[in-house]
Amino acid sequence: MKIFKWSPAFHVDKEPSVVPVWFQLHKLPLHYFHKEAIFQIVSVLGVPLFVDAATLATSRPSLARVCVEIDLFQARPSRGWVGNGKYEGFWQSFIPENTPKYCSHCYRQGHDIEGCYVLKPELRPPRAEKPYQRVKDRSQTSEP
Ligand SMILES: [Zn+2]
Repeated sequence: MKIFKWSPAFHVDKEPSVVPVWFQLHKLPLHYFHKEAIFQIVSVLGVPLFVDAATLATSRPSLARVCVEIDLFQARPSRGWVGNGKYEGFWQSFIPENTPKYCSHCYRQGHDIEGCYVLKPELRPPRAEKPYQRVKDRSQTSEP
């Protein structure tokens, strides 16, 4: 069973393309380790949902993790400019941890259009023969 966020565009035959995805922000300066600042930085990706406990506690200063609700149909920048007032800004890279694939042909998550069995049935691997089908019918053998 899959659970999806409901939206007014819900359709029983179409899985939604909006999903939560964790992003890593490596080498983010420590003074940006605040939920509001991180949410503002990643707002170019989608709707920020939350940061992880290590980011909140600043116990892992090498990277910040933030979960963002993104639309798999929308293009996402791989980095964003963080302005720093009168000081120089910097480019912050956004590294997704596990972006699900989405098929724009059958509107399902888990595969993309290049790997769609509905669109390209020849890609489907042959089904393995079930073991019980290989067993001989014992009623017709000559064993006692
Ligand atoms: Zn498909």
